[in-house]
Order: sequence, then C-alpha cells, then structure tokens
Amino acid sequence: MSAPPAPSKPSRRSRVRTPWDRLPFSVLPVSTIAEQCYCEHRVHLWLAAPGNMVSVPRSLERTQGAPMRQIAMAGAGADFHERASQDVGRVSVRELRNLIKHSPTVQVLESPLESEFGSLPIAGIPDAVCFEGGKVRCILEYKLTESNQLQMSHRVQLQLYGWLLQKSKFQHDDPLCVCVLVPTQNSPYLDELNTTDRQSLAATIHRIAREYVENKPEKINWYIKQVMLGTDFWVRIRIFRYSALVARRELRFFTPYWSGARKAIPSNNFRKCRLCQYNAIGKCKVAAGVYEGDLSCGEV
Ligand code: SF4
Repeated sequence: MSAPPAPSKPSRRSRVRTPWDRLPFSVLPVSTIAEQCYCEHRVHLWLAAPGNMVSVPRSLERTQGAPMRQIAMAGAGADFHERASQDVGRVSVRELRNLIKHSPTVQVLESPLESEFGSLPIAGIPDAVCFEGGKVRCILEYKLTESNQLQMSHRVQLQLYGWLLQKSKFQHDDPLCVCVLVPTQNSPYLDELNTTDRQSLAATIHRIAREYVENKPEKINWYIKQVMLGTDFWVRIRIFRYSALVARRELRFFTPYWSGARKAIPSNNFRKCRLCQYNAIGKCKVAAGVYEGDLSCGEV
C-alpha cells in the first residue's frame, strides 16, 4: 500500500523520539508491520533516513544493480495495485457497507481500512475482499514472486487486514486468508485485467480455495501448487483461516516497538543478513553474518 503523506506530528523535543515519532506517515501501514517480520532492526535503520523502500537504504537508491532492481520489482507490484485502484476508484467504508447490503456477493478491490490499536492508527489496503451475504468470506493478497512459500510477513499482513475489517464493523463468516503467489512470468496476464476481470478473478480464487479447504477440513494450512486461471496464466495459492486472536497477538507483539517500549529485534537468520543492503554498507552492527551478496550484479 502507499501510505498517505505525513501531517506534522506534535513536537516532542522534551523526550527521546520514539520510532512512531520518526515514522514519516500519519498512520502505521500494515505493510510496514509486515516489514518488521523480516527484520525489525532493518526497519529501525530505515527510520534513520527513510527512503522509498525499507529494504533499500536511501543512500543506495540510485545504485545500479541490486538496489535499483529491487526498486523496479517493487515498482511492478505497485503499478499493478495502482492500476487496480485507478480502475475501480477507491470506495469508502460507508460506500462499501452500502454495496454489500444490496448485493449477495461482492468483490471489493483495494479498499482502504483504518483503525486504532491502543493509540496507534493502523491502516491497510487489502488487494481484494470477497463478501457473501454481507459478510467477509475471503481476503486476498497478490504477491509477485518466484517462491512457493508463505512468508511470515504475508501471513501477518492478511491477518491484520482481517482485523481491520472486523474493527470496521464488517461481520465475518469463517473468512479465508488467501495469499496468491504470482510468478513474475505471469504478471503480464494480471496487468491486462480490468476491474470486472479482477473482481471475477477474486471470486474464482475464493471459490477454488473454499472447495479445497472444505475437502481437507483436517488441515489448518492449505497449499495449491498450480491454479490455472487462463491458458497460460497460473498462480500458486496458500490458504489459512483468519483468527482475531492471532491478529491481536501479532499487534501486541509488533506495536510496542513503535511506542518505544522495547528495542528493535534484529534477525538472527544469516541468510537474510548475508544479502541485506544495510549490512553491505556497514550500517548494521548486529548482523548475524557478513555480507556475501554483490550489489552490482542485481542479486536481491
Ligand atoms: S544485517 Fe541482518 S540484522 Fe542487520 S538489518 Fe540486515 S537483516 Fe537485519
């Protein structure tokens, strides 16, 4: 999601500025909380000089190779979201409520949601939400990736969208969280879809996910390695159930960092550290390993 520009926050010169004071947005985006899953210390380093992406230090934003490639990849994803939101025109929560009241099934694209956890305003824009009978049935998030893995960040992001929907007073009916992993080779198919196509895509993926889950009720996570959506257009999907308990637990864990109640936790995964660009430029003093990437070769 793209966060709204920051209004000026109250001056807090009398005390140490918290991460929340330094965040250059007026709300805490769910996507920034998702970044904490990867490495909270990296978010902390980013806050010292916030650039376009948490994963790319601002001083490297114009560096050819890995930094620019990473920004370009993120740009492709952002373009997709931007096109979707331009197509559909973002609807307010009030308009959305009206829409679902008058239609038995509704697929809503890119609708912004906001609520407070403690005194922290949290905001997010789920890629798609499927409503049936006025209730939330499925929350979808598209990720352009070669991986077949459900990252912790994806899981947290979807759970928090579920929480935002619930806080916005939308009733739930056993909502499924569906992470749609789109191989980059297939992203052009996604790009060509108009609003109606995207809504019917969300409905189709929800139907497939629901049937799969109902056929294997004993499981708590589901994976379909190839969902054919067109002649050459396929995706992988990872499915799990929304849980208000889990969502609140995640918020209780991640938000104390923003209030300054605890320090940022660094990753202890050397695989992440060996490719981290903050490690490459010597900004991280707690890396779990030396940098082994090559900024110039386009590795990310
Ligand atoms: S080097 Fe490791 S611990 Fe340091 S910011 Fe990067 S991922 Fe986090």
